[in-house]
Amino acid sequence: MIEVHELTKRYGDTVAVDRLSFQVPQGVVTGFLGPNGAGKSTTMRMMLDLDRPTSGSVSIDGKQYRQLNEPLKYIGALLEAKAVHPGRTARNHLLWLAQSNRIPVSRVNEVLDLVGLREVASRRSGGFSLGMGQRLGIAAAMLGDPRIMLFDEPVNGLDPEGILWVRTLMKSLAQEGRTVFVSSHLMSEMALTAHHLVVIGRGRLLANLSMNDFISQNSHSFVRIRTPQPEALLDALAGAGISSTPLSDGGFEIVDGDPAAVGDLARDRGIALHELSPQRASLEEAFMQMTADSVEYRTGAEQKKEH
Ligand code: ADP
Ligand code: MG
Repeated sequence: MIEVHELTKRYGDTVAVDRLSFQVPQGVVTGFLGPNGAGKSTTMRMMLDLDRPTSGSVSIDGKQYRQLNEPLKYIGALLEAKAVHPGRTARNHLLWLAQSNRIPVSRVNEVLDLVGLREVASRRSGGFSLGMGQRLGIAAAMLGDPRIMLFDEPVNGLDPEGILWVRTLMKSLAQEGRTVFVSSHLMSEMALTAHHLVVIGRGRLLANLSMNDFISQNSHSFVRIRTPQPEALLDALAGAGISSTPLSDGGFEIVDGDPAAVGDLARDRGIALHELSPQRASLEEAFMQMTADSVEYRTGAEQKKEH
Protein backbone atom coordinates (compact mmCIF):
# COMPACT_ATOMS: atom_id res chain seq x y z
CA MET A 1 0.00 0.00 0.00
CA ILE A 2 1.26 3.45 -0.96
CA GLU A 3 -0.17 6.49 0.80
CA VAL A 4 0.33 9.94 -0.66
CA HIS A 5 -0.54 12.71 1.76
CA GLU A 6 -0.90 16.39 0.81
CA LEU A 7 2.04 15.96 -1.54
CA THR A 8 3.27 19.20 -3.13
CA LYS A 9 6.21 19.96 -5.41
CA ARG A 10 7.15 23.39 -6.70
CA TYR A 11 9.84 24.14 -9.27
CA GLY A 12 10.23 27.90 -9.02
CA ASP A 13 6.84 29.31 -10.04
CA THR A 14 5.58 25.99 -11.38
CA VAL A 15 3.41 23.95 -9.04
CA ALA A 16 4.04 20.50 -10.50
CA VAL A 17 2.16 18.61 -7.76
CA ASP A 18 -0.47 20.38 -5.70
CA ARG A 19 -1.59 18.94 -2.33
CA LEU A 20 -2.18 15.51 -3.76
CA SER A 21 -3.63 12.82 -1.45
CA PHE A 22 -4.59 9.29 -2.43
CA GLN A 23 -3.84 5.67 -1.63
CA VAL A 24 -2.77 2.91 -3.96
CA PRO A 25 -4.32 -0.41 -2.93
CA GLN A 26 -2.63 -3.77 -3.31
CA GLY A 27 -3.77 -6.63 -5.51
CA VAL A 28 -5.05 -4.49 -8.38
CA VAL A 29 -3.63 -2.33 -11.16
CA THR A 30 -4.13 1.34 -10.30
CA GLY A 31 -3.98 3.70 -13.25
CA PHE A 32 -2.46 7.16 -12.75
CA LEU A 33 -4.01 9.22 -15.49
CA GLY A 34 -3.41 12.81 -16.52
CA PRO A 35 -2.51 14.90 -19.56
CA ASN A 36 1.14 15.64 -20.30
CA GLY A 37 2.57 17.95 -17.66
CA ALA A 38 -0.05 16.97 -15.06
CA GLY A 39 2.61 15.92 -12.54
CA LYS A 40 2.60 12.12 -12.87
CA SER A 41 6.35 11.60 -13.28
CA THR A 42 7.12 14.11 -10.53
CA THR A 43 4.77 12.27 -8.15
CA MET A 44 6.39 8.94 -9.00
CA ARG A 45 9.88 10.33 -8.50
CA MET A 46 8.82 11.57 -5.06
CA MET A 47 7.42 8.13 -4.26
CA LEU A 48 10.94 6.78 -4.88
CA ASP A 49 12.69 9.59 -3.02
CA LEU A 50 14.39 10.70 -6.27
CA ASP A 51 12.83 14.13 -5.85
CA ARG A 52 12.16 15.88 -2.54
CA PRO A 53 8.61 17.08 -1.84
CA THR A 54 8.16 20.79 -1.13
CA SER A 55 5.65 19.60 1.47
CA GLY A 56 3.54 16.55 2.22
CA SER A 57 4.67 12.95 2.33
CA VAL A 58 4.62 9.51 0.77
CA SER A 59 4.60 6.33 2.82
CA ILE A 60 5.21 2.79 1.61
CA ASP A 61 3.72 0.14 3.85
CA GLY A 62 3.76 2.75 6.60
CA LYS A 63 7.41 3.74 6.09
CA GLN A 64 9.23 6.46 4.22
CA TYR A 65 11.33 5.31 1.27
CA ARG A 66 14.61 6.16 2.97
CA GLN A 67 13.62 4.05 5.97
CA LEU A 68 13.31 0.97 3.77
CA ASN A 69 16.11 -1.50 4.17
CA GLU A 70 17.19 -2.69 0.67
CA PRO A 71 14.42 -0.77 -1.11
CA LEU A 72 14.49 -2.81 -4.36
CA LYS A 73 12.92 -5.61 -2.31
CA TYR A 74 9.96 -3.37 -1.44
CA ILE A 75 9.40 -1.26 -4.49
CA GLY A 76 10.48 -1.64 -8.11
CA ALA A 77 10.05 1.01 -10.76
CA LEU A 78 10.25 1.63 -14.47
CA LEU A 79 10.67 5.37 -14.90
CA GLU A 80 10.69 7.43 -18.08
CA ALA A 81 14.41 8.11 -18.15
CA LYS A 82 16.25 4.83 -18.02
CA ALA A 83 19.52 4.70 -16.15
CA VAL A 84 21.28 1.90 -18.01
CA HIS A 85 24.92 2.19 -18.93
CA PRO A 86 24.86 1.66 -22.74
CA GLY A 87 28.16 -0.22 -22.79
CA ARG A 88 26.97 -2.77 -20.25
CA THR A 89 25.31 -6.00 -21.30
CA ALA A 90 21.79 -6.65 -20.07
CA ARG A 91 23.02 -9.41 -17.78
CA ASN A 92 25.83 -7.32 -16.32
CA HIS A 93 23.47 -4.44 -15.66
CA LEU A 94 21.18 -6.76 -13.70
CA LEU A 95 24.09 -8.48 -11.95
CA TRP A 96 25.42 -5.11 -10.82
CA LEU A 97 21.98 -4.14 -9.49
CA ALA A 98 21.52 -7.51 -7.78
CA GLN A 99 24.92 -7.37 -6.08
CA SER A 100 24.49 -3.82 -4.85
CA ASN A 101 21.11 -4.74 -3.34
CA ARG A 102 22.11 -8.12 -1.91
CA ILE A 103 19.76 -9.98 -4.24
CA PRO A 104 20.80 -13.57 -5.11
CA VAL A 105 22.56 -13.74 -8.49
CA SER A 106 20.25 -16.61 -9.52
CA ARG A 107 17.42 -14.08 -9.67
CA VAL A 108 19.08 -12.42 -12.70
CA ASN A 109 18.36 -15.35 -15.00
CA GLU A 110 14.84 -15.61 -13.59
CA VAL A 111 13.97 -12.03 -14.49
CA LEU A 112 15.72 -12.33 -17.88
CA ASP A 113 13.37 -15.24 -18.59
CA LEU A 114 10.34 -13.36 -17.27
CA VAL A 115 10.89 -10.48 -19.69
CA GLY A 116 12.10 -12.62 -22.59
CA LEU A 117 15.64 -11.22 -22.80
CA ARG A 118 17.60 -14.38 -21.95
CA GLU A 119 18.86 -14.84 -25.52
CA VAL A 120 20.17 -11.28 -25.85
CA ALA A 121 21.43 -11.01 -22.27
CA SER A 122 25.08 -10.84 -23.30
CA ARG A 123 24.55 -8.02 -25.80
CA ARG A 124 25.33 -4.42 -24.90
CA SER A 125 22.12 -2.62 -23.95
CA GLY A 126 23.22 0.41 -26.02
CA GLY A 127 22.16 -1.47 -29.16
CA PHE A 128 18.75 -2.43 -27.78
CA SER A 129 15.51 -1.35 -29.43
CA LEU A 130 13.11 0.75 -27.37
CA GLY A 131 11.03 -2.33 -26.62
CA MET A 132 14.06 -4.32 -25.45
CA GLY A 133 15.14 -1.36 -23.32
CA GLN A 134 11.70 -1.30 -21.68
CA ARG A 135 11.93 -5.03 -21.02
CA LEU A 136 15.33 -4.56 -19.40
CA GLY A 137 13.91 -1.75 -17.25
CA ILE A 138 11.07 -4.03 -16.20
CA ALA A 139 13.52 -6.84 -15.44
CA ALA A 140 15.43 -4.45 -13.17
CA ALA A 141 12.19 -3.40 -11.46
CA MET A 142 11.29 -7.05 -10.78
CA LEU A 143 14.76 -8.06 -9.60
CA GLY A 144 14.05 -7.69 -5.89
CA ASP A 145 10.65 -9.42 -6.26
CA PRO A 146 9.03 -6.31 -4.77
CA ARG A 147 5.45 -6.15 -3.50
CA ILE A 148 5.02 -2.70 -5.03
CA MET A 149 5.74 -1.75 -8.63
CA LEU A 150 5.60 1.62 -10.36
CA PHE A 151 5.51 1.98 -14.14
CA ASP A 152 5.72 5.45 -15.69
CA GLU A 153 4.13 5.41 -19.17
CA PRO A 154 5.39 1.87 -19.82
CA VAL A 155 3.78 1.39 -23.24
CA ASN A 156 5.06 4.65 -24.77
CA GLY A 157 6.81 3.87 -28.03
CA LEU A 158 6.23 0.11 -27.87
CA ASP A 159 4.95 -1.91 -30.80
CA PRO A 160 1.56 -3.68 -30.47
CA GLU A 161 3.14 -6.92 -29.32
CA GLY A 162 5.15 -5.12 -26.64
CA ILE A 163 2.06 -3.20 -25.49
CA LEU A 164 0.07 -6.40 -25.10
CA TRP A 165 2.93 -7.99 -23.21
CA VAL A 166 3.18 -5.07 -20.75
CA ARG A 167 -0.59 -5.06 -20.15
CA THR A 168 -0.66 -8.78 -19.46
CA LEU A 169 2.38 -8.54 -17.19
CA MET A 170 0.89 -5.74 -15.08
CA LYS A 171 -2.35 -7.65 -14.60
CA SER A 172 -0.55 -10.82 -13.59
CA LEU A 173 1.69 -8.91 -11.13
CA ALA A 174 -1.46 -7.51 -9.52
CA GLN A 175 -3.09 -10.94 -9.45
CA GLU A 176 -0.12 -12.14 -7.44
CA GLY A 177 -1.24 -9.62 -4.81
CA ARG A 178 1.23 -6.84 -5.64
CA THR A 179 0.54 -3.13 -5.69
CA VAL A 180 0.83 -2.01 -9.32
CA PHE A 181 0.77 1.72 -10.05
CA VAL A 182 0.98 2.68 -13.72
CA SER A 183 0.83 6.11 -15.33
CA SER A 184 -0.55 7.05 -18.72
CA HIS A 185 -1.88 10.07 -20.56
CA LEU A 186 -4.29 7.82 -22.51
CA MET A 187 -7.67 6.90 -21.11
CA SER A 188 -8.01 4.12 -23.68
CA GLU A 189 -4.87 2.48 -22.28
CA MET A 190 -6.10 2.70 -18.68
CA ALA A 191 -9.50 1.28 -19.62
CA LEU A 192 -7.73 -1.89 -20.76
CA THR A 193 -5.50 -2.40 -17.74
CA ALA A 194 -6.55 -0.49 -14.65
CA HIS A 195 -9.00 -1.64 -12.03
CA HIS A 196 -8.70 1.55 -10.01
CA LEU A 197 -8.12 5.04 -11.35
CA VAL A 198 -6.46 8.17 -9.96
CA VAL A 199 -6.88 11.14 -12.31
CA ILE A 200 -4.82 14.32 -11.95
CA GLY A 201 -4.60 17.59 -13.85
CA ARG A 202 -2.30 20.52 -13.08
CA GLY A 203 -0.91 18.57 -10.16
CA ARG A 204 -4.31 18.28 -8.49
CA LEU A 205 -6.48 15.28 -7.79
CA LEU A 206 -9.50 15.24 -10.12
CA ALA A 207 -10.88 11.77 -9.46
CA ASN A 208 -10.10 8.69 -7.40
CA LEU A 209 -12.48 5.84 -8.10
CA SER A 210 -12.84 2.34 -9.51
CA MET A 211 -12.64 1.94 -13.28
CA ASN A 212 -16.16 0.49 -13.22
CA ASP A 213 -17.49 3.60 -11.46
CA PHE A 214 -15.69 5.83 -13.93
CA ILE A 215 -17.26 3.91 -16.82
CA SER A 216 -20.79 3.93 -15.41
CA GLN A 217 -20.58 7.62 -14.49
CA ASN A 218 -19.05 8.77 -17.73
CA SER A 219 -20.19 6.62 -20.57
CA HIS A 220 -23.91 6.98 -21.23
CA SER A 221 -25.33 4.71 -23.90
CA PHE A 222 -27.39 5.74 -26.90
CA VAL A 223 -28.83 4.23 -30.05
CA ARG A 224 -27.92 5.56 -33.48
CA ILE A 225 -30.53 5.21 -36.25
CA ARG A 226 -30.56 5.94 -39.97
CA THR A 227 -33.57 5.54 -42.20
CA PRO A 228 -34.62 6.60 -45.73
CA GLN A 229 -38.01 7.63 -44.20
CA PRO A 230 -37.01 10.11 -41.50
CA GLU A 231 -40.38 11.89 -41.23
CA ALA A 232 -42.28 8.64 -40.73
CA LEU A 233 -39.77 7.45 -38.13
CA LEU A 234 -39.83 10.77 -36.24
CA ASP A 235 -43.65 10.54 -36.12
CA ALA A 236 -43.53 7.00 -34.85
CA LEU A 237 -40.92 7.82 -32.19
CA ALA A 238 -42.82 10.90 -31.02
CA GLY A 239 -46.02 8.83 -30.86
CA ALA A 240 -44.28 6.31 -28.62
CA GLY A 241 -42.95 9.08 -26.36
CA ILE A 242 -39.32 8.50 -27.38
CA SER A 243 -37.32 11.68 -27.81
CA SER A 244 -34.58 11.76 -30.42
CA THR A 245 -31.82 14.12 -31.47
CA PRO A 246 -31.15 14.68 -35.18
CA LEU A 247 -27.55 14.26 -36.40
CA SER A 248 -25.84 16.28 -39.11
CA ASP A 249 -25.59 13.22 -41.37
CA GLY A 250 -29.39 12.82 -41.47
CA GLY A 251 -29.51 10.14 -38.75
CA PHE A 252 -30.86 10.29 -35.20
CA GLU A 253 -29.67 9.45 -31.74
CA ILE A 254 -31.78 8.25 -28.83
CA VAL A 255 -30.17 8.58 -25.39
CA ASP A 256 -30.48 5.41 -23.29
CA GLY A 257 -32.78 4.00 -25.98
CA ASP A 258 -33.57 0.33 -26.42
CA PRO A 259 -32.60 -0.83 -29.94
CA ALA A 260 -35.21 -3.64 -29.84
CA ALA A 261 -38.05 -1.22 -29.06
CA VAL A 262 -37.01 1.09 -31.90
CA GLY A 263 -36.62 -1.82 -34.33
CA ASP A 264 -40.06 -3.24 -33.46
CA LEU A 265 -41.66 0.18 -33.78
CA ALA A 266 -40.14 0.68 -37.23
CA ARG A 267 -41.26 -2.79 -38.35
CA ASP A 268 -44.85 -2.17 -37.12
CA ARG A 269 -45.00 1.03 -39.21
CA GLY A 270 -43.29 -0.55 -42.21
CA ILE A 271 -40.30 1.82 -41.93
CA ALA A 272 -36.95 0.65 -43.30
CA LEU A 273 -33.92 1.07 -41.06
CA HIS A 274 -30.43 1.38 -42.54
CA GLU A 275 -28.75 1.59 -39.17
CA LEU A 276 -29.78 0.64 -35.65
CA SER A 277 -26.68 0.58 -33.50
CA PRO A 278 -26.19 0.73 -29.75
CA GLN A 279 -23.29 3.08 -28.88
CA ARG A 280 -21.38 4.27 -25.83
CA ALA A 281 -19.90 7.72 -25.32
CA SER A 282 -16.13 7.34 -25.33
CA LEU A 283 -14.19 7.31 -22.08
CA GLU A 284 -11.55 9.40 -23.82
CA GLU A 285 -14.14 12.18 -24.20
CA ALA A 286 -15.05 11.96 -20.52
CA PHE A 287 -11.38 12.18 -19.57
CA MET A 288 -10.84 15.17 -21.87
CA GLN A 289 -13.80 16.96 -20.31
CA MET A 290 -12.56 16.19 -16.82
CA THR A 291 -9.11 17.61 -17.56
CA ALA A 292 -10.16 20.37 -19.97
CA ASP A 293 -9.51 23.11 -17.40
CA SER A 294 -5.99 21.95 -16.72
CA VAL A 295 -5.14 21.73 -20.41
CA GLU A 296 -6.66 25.17 -21.17
CA TYR A 297 -4.80 26.69 -18.25
CA ARG A 298 -1.52 25.38 -19.58
CA THR A 299 -2.16 26.67 -23.09
CA GLY A 300 -3.21 30.01 -21.62
CA ALA A 301 -0.03 30.22 -19.57
CA GLU A 302 2.08 29.48 -22.62
CA GLN A 303 0.31 32.16 -24.63
CA LYS A 304 0.90 34.70 -21.88
CA LYS A 305 4.61 33.94 -21.91
CA GLU A 306 4.79 34.73 -25.62
CA HIS A 307 3.29 38.22 -25.27
P1 ADP B 1 3.72 14.38 -16.43
O1 ADP B 1 4.64 13.26 -16.07
O2 ADP B 1 2.33 14.20 -15.91
O3 ADP B 1 3.72 14.67 -17.90
P2 ADP B 1 5.66 15.99 -15.00
O4 ADP B 1 5.63 15.49 -13.61
O5 ADP B 1 6.78 15.53 -15.86
O6 ADP B 1 4.25 15.71 -15.70
O7 ADP B 1 5.69 17.58 -14.98
C1 ADP B 1 4.79 18.36 -14.21
C2 ADP B 1 5.18 19.82 -14.32
O8 ADP B 1 6.39 20.04 -13.62
C3 ADP B 1 5.41 20.30 -15.73
O9 ADP B 1 4.95 21.63 -15.83
C4 ADP B 1 6.92 20.22 -15.87
O10 ADP B 1 7.37 21.15 -16.82
C5 ADP B 1 7.37 20.58 -14.48
N1 ADP B 1 8.65 19.93 -14.14
C6 ADP B 1 8.87 18.60 -14.00
N2 ADP B 1 10.14 18.34 -13.65
C7 ADP B 1 10.76 19.56 -13.53
C8 ADP B 1 12.10 19.98 -13.19
N3 ADP B 1 13.05 19.10 -12.87
N4 ADP B 1 12.34 21.30 -13.19
C9 ADP B 1 11.38 22.20 -13.52
N5 ADP B 1 10.12 21.87 -13.84
C10 ADP B 1 9.79 20.57 -13.86
MG1 MG C 1 5.69 11.98 -17.29
